[in-house]
Amino acid sequence: MKTQPVLLIHGGAWAMPDEAIAAHEAGIANALAAGYALLERGASAVDAVEAAVAVMEDDETFDAGRGSFLTQDGRVQMDALLMNGENLRTGGVACVERLRNPIHAARLVLDHSPHVYFVGTGAERFARQHGMALCDNMDLVIPREQERLYKAQAAELAGHSDTTFSGPLDSASHDTVGAVALDTHGNIAAGTSTGGTLNKAPGRVGDSSLIGCGCYADNLSAAVSLTGWGEPIMKLVLGKWAVDRVAAGASPQESAQAAIDYLFARLGGHGGIILLSPDGRIGLAHNTPRMAWGLRTPAGLESGVTRN
Ligand code: ASP
Repeated sequence: MKTQPVLLIHGGAWAMPDEAIAAHEAGIANALAAGYALLERGASAVDAVEAAVAVMEDDETFDAGRGSFLTQDGRVQMDALLMNGENLRTGGVACVERLRNPIHAARLVLDHSPHVYFVGTGAERFARQHGMALCDNMDLVIPREQERLYKAQAAELAGHSDTTFSGPLDSASHDTVGAVALDTHGNIAAGTSTGGTLNKAPGRVGDSSLIGCGCYADNLSAAVSLTGWGEPIMKLVLGKWAVDRVAAGASPQESAQAAIDYLFARLGGHGGIILLSPDGRIGLAHNTPRMAWGLRTPAGLESGVTRN
């Protein structure tokens, strides 16, 4: 018997200003449409996740692909992970600067490499050897982000402490994208893609592309994607923490909420999480003021920007 497909995605969790909401909602709708069309045609969960994430990478609204936050030296440096819950095949890339769609590079690693994770120029070389075009880093840099970086660095120079990652919830911006899917064959997958955090030191890698931190999928537990302040999420290996709770009997919603509560209670972290179990139940939680997300099932579409 065929499983009913499910696609759940997010486009960041932060104090999204009112004027940013429409663009986030539009981006989420486009990504859901692209990914779900594949699921309806019987494509794999991995295909659907990759497609949905790629649409959001192409959308400058989000901190992924073109339009990503900039490093201290004004460059885009991106990380992505894709994981197949059916067989645990995984592909990850980090600190890539010349790929428009890091999630496609992650897919190539998943499909074609005995390794799991490539960084920097090695990742770019692997992607190019497998047919991906390299772009100029400046093709990924947009004026909005140059302005944002300029303001952050001016504040730093003026002696204001940098609260981008650790400050009050309304000052942090987490616009990473992610997706989890269940296909008609009963398999789940997860993907996460990010430009990281604003004004990050070159070479810094956050949680998003680290297996078990910002992304994980296993048919025996659940699929998960996170967004938020990466360092605390990494220290808690929070994605794996959350799916293990589903495997132990918690519902995806209980587990999602517990993960965000734990993140805050243990390390004062903030962010958002989406979870999907192989039986099609979902979980979503965030402790940021807002989170952009969307869900598509045979019953229809639900999406929006939630508030806390
Ligand atoms: N988690 C990402 C990172 O720390 C940032 C985000 O979610 O927007 O790199």
